[in-house]
Amino acid sequence: LSAQYLSEIHLPAQSACGGRFSLMVNAGLAIDLETSHPSHTDGIGLYRTEYPFIVRTRFPTEAEQVELYKTVLATQPGKGVVMRTLDVGGDKPLPYFPISEENPFLGWRGIRMTLDHPEIFLVQIRAMLRANIGHGNLHILLPMISDLSEVDEALRLIKQASFEVADELEGSEIQLPKAKVGVMVEVPSIMYQLPELARKVDFCSVGTNDLTQYLLAVDRNNPRVASLYDAMHPAVLRALHQLCLQSQALQFPVSICGELAGEPAGVLILAAMGYDKFSMNNSNLAKIKWLLRRVHLSELQLLLPEILACQSPKQVRQHVQRFLDQKH
Ligand code: PEP
Ligand code: MG
Repeated sequence: LSAQYLSEIHLPAQSACGGRFSLMVNAGLAIDLETSHPSHTDGIGLYRTEYPFIVRTRFPTEAEQVELYKTVLATQPGKGVVMRTLDVGGDKPLPYFPISEENPFLGWRGIRMTLDHPEIFLVQIRAMLRANIGHGNLHILLPMISDLSEVDEALRLIKQASFEVADELEGSEIQLPKAKVGVMVEVPSIMYQLPELARKVDFCSVGTNDLTQYLLAVDRNNPRVASLYDAMHPAVLRALHQLCLQSQALQFPVSICGELAGEPAGVLILAAMGYDKFSMNNSNLAKIKWLLRRVHLSELQLLLPEILACQSPKQVRQHVQRFLDQKH
């Protein structure tokens, strides 16, 4: 079956009726970049910068980060690379920066930590901006935003870093390309502040993994409650649907980078809602492209009310499975 999927990997990501999708890859380790072919994708939709930090024994220097980010940006000429600022804490500890908390998933994670350590944030942003010179495809993504003041503070620091890098370039012919800035939608509070968010940043990207965990109050790594963790919970799906409608009304670009986009049933539901930009692990890309090439948007639109009326994740899966069975 995988040979069947791979046979269409070079073809456009479009539905049987011609609707276009952007399919991007999630990356973090060198292997993610080596195994994906830029000509088969629409860029990197999520580059998790914490991975290169986690595998080291100390914080990488600014120069080391510049080299690393340059390599990543260079793999995608003419295509966007969404680099997320350091997202540690919770389930992603840095060995040389221990954080001890009673409740790490509700604690000092992602942007909360880096805004408390602007020296870490500024070094990383400067490195990203310097790496972007000569490439121009950098998008900066802010993780774990729960409050608009965090967006303001991050934007202020990004501006400061841009001035610093531009200063270094003064007197030379080199121009500093402008990077787009976006916010992860993965904490429920920010879903209710979309109009304000749309005025502040260029795009948003939905992290369905954390969004599910926080909407359902289920630790995604705790085996005791694992059976309650399901991105196909009707409440999660209704939230995602609302978010899609609202971002369309605001003309606020939105993409999905959580694992749901890499699951056949998940991507169908998301496409039925109206999402058209998906970022996923490279190992899922061929299958998802193959599937999307077989659907008509009109049949998905018919499926949507049935899915949104379901009362349990199990019911949702049964509905979508029936649809999927017809495609194979
Ligand atoms: C998410 O939360 O859905 C996400 C993409 O980020 P991560 O899995 O790295 O927390
Ligand atoms: Mg997350």
